[in-house]
Amino acid sequence: MKSVSIFGATGSVGLSTLDLIRRDPDAYRVVALTANSDVDNLAAQARATGAQVAVIGQERLHGALREALAGSGIEAAAGEDALVEAAALGADWTMASIVGCAGLKPTMAALRTGGTVALANKESLVSAGGLMMEAARAAGATLLPVDSEHNAIFQCLAGSDLDSVSRIILTASGGPFRTRRLDEMADITPAQAVAHPNWSMGAKISVDSATMMNKGLELIEAAYLFPVGLDRIEILVHPQSVIHSMVEYRDRSTLAQLGSPDMRIPIAHALAWPDRIATPCQPLDLARIGRLDFEAPDPERFPALRLARAAANEGGAAPAILNAANEVAVAAFLAGRIGFLDIAMIVEDVLDRYSAPTPCAIDDVLAADAQARVMAGEVMERLTA
Ligand code: NAD
Ligand code: MG
Repeated sequence: MKSVSIFGATGSVGLSTLDLIRRDPDAYRVVALTANSDVDNLAAQARATGAQVAVIGQERLHGALREALAGSGIEAAAGEDALVEAAALGADWTMASIVGCAGLKPTMAALRTGGTVALANKESLVSAGGLMMEAARAAGATLLPVDSEHNAIFQCLAGSDLDSVSRIILTASGGPFRTRRLDEMADITPAQAVAHPNWSMGAKISVDSATMMNKGLELIEAAYLFPVGLDRIEILVHPQSVIHSMVEYRDRSTLAQLGSPDMRIPIAHALAWPDRIATPCQPLDLARIGRLDFEAPDPERFPALRLARAAANEGGAAPAILNAANEVAVAAFLAGRIGFLDIAMIVEDVLDRYSAPTPCAIDDVLAADAQARVMAGEVMERLTA
């Protein structure tokens, strides 16, 4: 029996993970489930899986969670520290699927237990990549990528020496505005931006896909997970999202991983690794799909790609600053406070005005993150004044 914890259990990735676990209840023992504010669903999940502990991120909801779990024998905890404590319980396998840099501390705590961490929470790796990879190494933890592209790359690498890799080709759907003209982008609404053509995901990553900041974050994520050098990681737009990424070796042999756009496939890969488990996912029907298309990304209409590559090249705290400014801007866009094109503009403005020393510890990352948020807020105030 494998002990498992899911951080961000009520979200899109969390629900897909629970779906797989519930199909084989004898194979897993649930240690911790967490959510930010959705007490009812968290309590229902904890009861259904017989979890040991349920943690709600918002401290003020502690009483409500305790009440919802009354008589179940499941421990109810709340707040940021409780998330970290739950991660430190040390499940064999932890799904890190909190959205945003809010997932950083729990993810680090899970890695420090030396277990296996399935990483969906790309923002934490983008913000603290060097420190996170080092913590995983030091603890002997296994970090398995769940982001579909990185999971694809991991599978295509199949343990090969990175020295034999000539290129990593990160595929991108191009999002809902792949063919939209720049002069028609200013009026894009949150509802249009979250309607992804291929994937069903949480709101934040859906907006990131629409601006293509998601691919920018994934470029940084790939550079930490697979350190072949940034100039060897290319982005290729592939609207059908059938090829999830590719690895080209120095002999010019190129390996690709394909599958239906269903996150349960990469999650199942990480859950069973190094074995394989059956999933209820649709088999790939290439005859029906008929054709696969490819095109170069357009950095003019999608400046986030340029900003993320520049932050990656700069290194140090720049990726954390890029990520924090983006988180603030995306939240403001979703709240209807700023326009679609303002997102990248805000990120660029913060990156231009603010730099911080290379973080030596997680607190340094969080300090740069906090300052970038303040500065993004200032730009927004100017915009909306
Ligand atoms: P989501 O918004 O659907 O779910 C986020 C989860 O995190 C929820 O359970 C929420 O309660 C929790 N959460 C949010 N803020 C929190 C906070 N401050 N403290 C504690 N918990 C908090 O998001 P999602 O789409 O499932 O994405 C989760 C992560 O996985 C993101 O980093 C995303 O980039 C990544 N990812 C998602 C997909 C996908 O298909 N959805 C694919 C690849 C990578
Ligand atoms: Mg992805």
